[in-house]
Amino acid sequence: MEVGTACTVCKQPIQVNWNFCPNCGNILRVKPLSTSVLRQLVIYSVSFFLPPFGLGYAFKYLRQDDRKARIIGIISIILTILSIYAIIMSFKMFMDYYSKILKSIDTGSYPY
Ligand SMILES: [Zn+2]
Repeated sequence: MEVGTACTVCKQPIQVNWNFCPNCGNILRVKPLSTSVLRQLVIYSVSFFLPPFGLGYAFKYLRQDDRKARIIGIISIILTILSIYAIIMSFKMFMDYYSKILKSIDTGSYPY
């Protein structure tokens, strides 16, 4: 049990890990975002495999006071950038390959 404190509105004793005062409904704190390993895996997967949707998580986590949450946000942005870079590079490689085939067809050197 964490050490109890008092609600700023009704002065009833409350636990520091409570989000709302059960007596008056006063919001005691903004619920922090989860930084669990599972949550991180979800965020990183979305960031890498479904760009740019990971940025939604990234900015939400970057706005947190918690240092760990902010680091998660930064990693999420880095993964999104890496992913977009990978997509651009593979598209470029495909286009290079494709234009080579087209060129060889034009010059009659295409072997098939
Ligand atoms: Zn209260």
